[in-house]
Amino acid sequence: MSTIKELQQQIGEINAANGWRTTNEADLDAKARVNAQITRLALITTEVAEAIEEIRNGRDADERYYTGGVGDHSGSFSEREPLDANGAPRKPEGVPSELADIVIRALDAAGAWGIDLESVIEEKLAYNLTRGHRHGGKAV
Ligand SMILES: [Mg+2]
Repeated sequence: MSTIKELQQQIGEINAANGWRTTNEADLDAKARVNAQITRLALITTEVAEAIEEIRNGRDADERYYTGGVGDHSGSFSEREPLDANGAPRKPEGVPSELADIVIRALDAAGAWGIDLESVIEEKLAYNLTRGHRHGGKAV
């Protein structure tokens, strides 16, 4: 089991290898840096929208399914099969996959910005323990 810190590191490495970390945001001028930061945050919201669309399309919140892969066009693969005929991973779909995308994007943003998100989560959880029932009576 990886720690959040290890996942954050791994995500940064994978995204760099995939060409998503070509620019060090700290080297950008102020306006370009702010635009890059806003873009990263906006892309987290796109993953939320994708999760909403899964629900709207009638998928259960815990439903995992898979698309793509070698031979998928022939209809020879069930959407429950995570690997294609060559043993390669097919594309994970569904709300669980979109929740993973949200976390991956958040960890990538934190890594790009030099934030140790694991320690921030621990700090927030410690604070939330002090907030009381429904954080002071909020309805939702
Ligand atoms: Mg997604």
